[in-house]
Amino acid sequence: MNILVINAGSSSLKYQLFNMENDSVLAKGKVERIGMDTAIVTHEPADKAEAREVGEILEHTTAIRKVLEMLLHAQHGVLGAIEEIDAVGHRVVHGGEAFKSSVLVDDEVKREIKRLFDLAPLHNPAAMLGIAAVEANMPGVPQAVVFDTAFHQTMPAPAYLYPVPMALYRKHKVRRYGFHGTSHNYVSERAAVFLGRPLEQLKLVTCHIGNGASCAAIVGGRSVDTSMGMTPLEGLMMGTRSGDLDPAIVPYAMGKEDLTLSEISSMLNKHSGLQAISGLSSDMREIVEAMEAGDRNAKLAFDMYEYRIRKYIGAYAAAMNGLDAVVFTAGVGENSALLRKAVCEQLSFLGIEFDEEANLTGRGLEKRITKPGSKVEVLVIPTNEEWMIARDTYALVKH
Ligand code: ADP
Repeated sequence: MNILVINAGSSSLKYQLFNMENDSVLAKGKVERIGMDTAIVTHEPADKAEAREVGEILEHTTAIRKVLEMLLHAQHGVLGAIEEIDAVGHRVVHGGEAFKSSVLVDDEVKREIKRLFDLAPLHNPAAMLGIAAVEANMPGVPQAVVFDTAFHQTMPAPAYLYPVPMALYRKHKVRRYGFHGTSHNYVSERAAVFLGRPLEQLKLVTCHIGNGASCAAIVGGRSVDTSMGMTPLEGLMMGTRSGDLDPAIVPYAMGKEDLTLSEISSMLNKHSGLQAISGLSSDMREIVEAMEAGDRNAKLAFDMYEYRIRKYIGAYAAAMNGLDAVVFTAGVGENSALLRKAVCEQLSFLGIEFDEEANLTGRGLEKRITKPGSKVEVLVIPTNEEWMIARDTYALVKH
């Protein structure tokens, strides 16, 4: 069975085609700058030359048609006919309280995703465009939706409620949902396999540190807390997002700087984090490079970023009343040995015996970066959200 996984954004769309029989990726790629006459399609088949096309793609239906053309292409294609795609799995950012797991798309599911537009005004409409585009190009093919929030629906009320008037929750669903759930779920399962211990017996803190970043506290395979909240703005300091701050800053800064709601929202989401403190970049590679060349603002940005991750790991060890392992994943977590070292070396009180050499070797592989016998282990596990989406879709379609 072949499953096409689609991650649709407002102006971009990433795809991966899986063969579920042998667990292989047949092709992957992306369409960027949808809506423009210079849209770019990049297609990477597993065993053939890469293809790149630039041209007008004004909306998602055309983007999906382009993707299908690439998958069927005489030179760069990997399929003989469109019918060889058995199902499509979509990443959807917000599942609210309605979706506690992945589901097959039907009219009611589509209505519910639309009801959640308010909570994820940038992301959920894009996912709906992706679903409609697949319907237009591949009528009748089963589609599944996999939500970033679903894994965190196991959080208990003390973790998911905000201490504000309950009317906000009852009337407007103001609560913590958490994101990156597919990734936290994947790396926690892989951690148990790597450690050779049943997931049911483990207390884990998983750290998904990419452009967006979040930590999760996972007990027995169930998320009990996570650092992102009602939106992906809460929690850790990120590339361009502030993460946690005193909410009183919002009206104060709006008054002092004469900002509108959309301006303050843009400031906290797009012009804060590493970018704001370093004054240089939201990319950890550039921060580290500048820091090593002696840039003090880059060093401050790195120190703040690292400090906030460390605080969350400590808090979650307390929340779970114990800790067996910490897992690092995503762009920064998988690649920045320096960040992992900064976090882990100051957590020795928890029983983490950091292994400097292991931290520096085995790039791209699942690995342990603590010494043998360390009371709490630290792992690096490359995430694979697309594979999780394919797996869920496969399971739903087989039923
Ligand atoms: P997204 O949240 O967009 O999916 P990723 O998980 O791909 O992000 O992470 C992207 C980030 O990973 C980049 O912004 C960059 O800061 C960071 N990154 C990638 N490679 C390295 C590296 N070698 N060292 C430090 N940071 C890296």
